[in-house]
Amino acid sequence: MKTNAKIAVFLDRDGTINRERNYVNRAADFELLPEVADAIRALNEAGVKVLVASNQSGVARGYLTMKHLGSITSKMHRQLAKGGARVDAVYYCPFHPDDKPYCRKPSVGMAMEAREQFGVDLKRSYMVGDNRVDMEFGANIGARNVLVLTGHARGDEPWTRTVKIHCVAQNLSGAVLWILQDIRKRRKARAARPAPARKRKPTAR
Ligand SMILES: [Mg+2]
Repeated sequence: MKTNAKIAVFLDRDGTINRERNYVNRAADFELLPEVADAIRALNEAGVKVLVASNQSGVARGYLTMKHLGSITSKMHRQLAKGGARVDAVYYCPFHPDDKPYCRKPSVGMAMEAREQFGVDLKRSYMVGDNRVDMEFGANIGARNVLVLTGHARGDEPWTRTVKIHCVAQNLSGAVLWILQDIRKRRKARAARPAPARKRKPTAR
């Protein structure tokens, strides 16, 4: 569906796509959550861009190397492919939070890169994650936020009342259902909006 090509769905990785383990350092620790391949396939079929955006400060902390990170990413791609699903790009921020890197969520660097790479419209896009920084990232880029409860959040933390969250979903499958519905709703609303008045040509007198 070409009409959705400018919409990105940013996905956090740990606790959203794979089981949260407080640092996934080896491919063996990467376990895809059960509903994830089907959910991502539904996004693929809708024609939106599926982009993983993940803070991986474990690299700067010396818990894993870029090579380990690469093999974890390969495992993710392989497991998704088995379920007929694919992600269009994976963005990582490997730096330490103390260095305040531009790429580290909630800072907007990874979204800027995605916009550059795919020409996505961030205002029409979505962020799905299990953590406060994910929702702050979504808010900072002007996207709509879906909090999933498969990782750190329970959904009733005090911060959930101060960061704008558009939907709380049990898992990625619920998040995707809501997102696809919301995309349809917004498209309908746009279609129903009266066309902007045409500028009248100045008439010669
Ligand atoms: Mg997470």
